[in-house]
Amino acid sequence: MTTFAELTTLRVGGGARRWVDARSADEIVAAGSAARREGDEWLALGGGSNLLVADVDFAGTVIRILSEGIHIESEGAEHTLVHVEAGHSWDDFVSWAVRNGLGGVEAMSGIPGTVGGAPVQNIGAYGQELSDVVHSLTFWDEARDEVVTLTNSDMDFAFRHSILKNGRRGIVLDITFALHRVGNGPEALSRPLMFEQLASALGVAMGASEPLGAVRDRVLELRRSKGMVLDANDPDTFSVGSFFVNPIVSERFSRTLPAEAPRFPVGDEEPPRYLAPGEDVPPLATSPRAVKLSAAWLIEQSGVRKGFSLPGSGAAISSKHALALTNRGSATADDVFQLAKYVQAMVQSSFGVLLLPEPTLVGFSL
Ligand SMILES: Cc1cc2nc3c(=O)[nH]c(=O)nc-3n(C[C@H](O)[C@H](O)[C@H](O)COP(=O)(O)OP(=O)(O)OC[C@H]3O[C@@H](n4cnc5c(N)ncnc54)[C@H](O)[C@@H]3O)c2cc1C
Repeated sequence: MTTFAELTTLRVGGGARRWVDARSADEIVAAGSAARREGDEWLALGGGSNLLVADVDFAGTVIRILSEGIHIESEGAEHTLVHVEAGHSWDDFVSWAVRNGLGGVEAMSGIPGTVGGAPVQNIGAYGQELSDVVHSLTFWDEARDEVVTLTNSDMDFAFRHSILKNGRRGIVLDITFALHRVGNGPEALSRPLMFEQLASALGVAMGASEPLGAVRDRVLELRRSKGMVLDANDPDTFSVGSFFVNPIVSERFSRTLPAEAPRFPVGDEEPPRYLAPGEDVPPLATSPRAVKLSAAWLIEQSGVRKGFSLPGSGAAISSKHALALTNRGSATADDVFQLAKYVQAMVQSSFGVLLLPEPTLVGFSL
């Protein structure tokens, strides 16, 4: 019997009432429509790299998204439009883009999962985000039982968020990416690097450009050192990557945290200005400044160290990255969930910050 433990990177989770393998957009739509007609619960399953599914069987249909294929739709002065099927491996697509001298996704090398799963939480890493390169996507809309085209602005993309994360039910069938033609091969220079850690690993200043292939290799190296590239021999990678989203809080709240807490301003800051004589003082709430915190720092400072495990549990914090909850080999889904609850409670009682989970939880709510 097929189980989620076999098909997810956390390697936990029970079976399902029905599994459907969908190898083309038509088969995906047919499977979704059938489940809808029958009033059946359904779940789209890509690479299973952002899912925590409970140990009890899922009482519905799991639609495995297995469609594959990449082709260039058009070459323009501004962008090259590239069409990729939803079930295609994300990292295979990144590697293809780098080999073909197309920039925009090289810093997202090594993220597991499928192309169709990527917009759900607007994946990102090392200064690049999916939303920077999505032109449009084809989507089976459950409510209308129709295939529709969604543009980038329809997706309500934000940090680890899109309209698909909470609200719009349906399945991504394919994505058209707008990539930058920077050359014809991996030697072509990337767009300016916007992430300090990556620039310094490449030995260049922020804003410099480096060959796409070198950027990809360095990102993979950095990710491996944190257990963030899947490796069948390394239990530190039996995870969903980061389990919690880096919280975004008001700048005022962030001042309640210890001075050494890492914080990153989010969005445009309003420059200070003088009021004109007689001008009304604007209410404070009109320009709240937001600050992104490091969930990993909050977890470690709340007393939960790398490698930590609850007594008798098969789940543990990664030994390389405090934000990854891992299966050391024998964990149940409940072990992972209990550890997540513990971490959440420790951070909340220490700092008053509620960490929210990044993966989709099925059969649990946190
Ligand atoms: C080691 C490791 C490192 C990671 N590093 C990063 C990182 O650096 N940055 C980052 O952002 N994420 C990271 N992740 C998280 C994860 O890889 C991404 O979120 C990925 O995009 C999930 O895709 P998937 O195909 O595996 O989705 P799944 O896990 O199969 O599904 C996740 C959610 O998306 C839905 N879904 C899947 N396919 C579709 C579809 N075609 N249409 C509609 N909904 C769909 C599912 O129903 C589910 O709700 C990491 C995970 C691991 C294990």
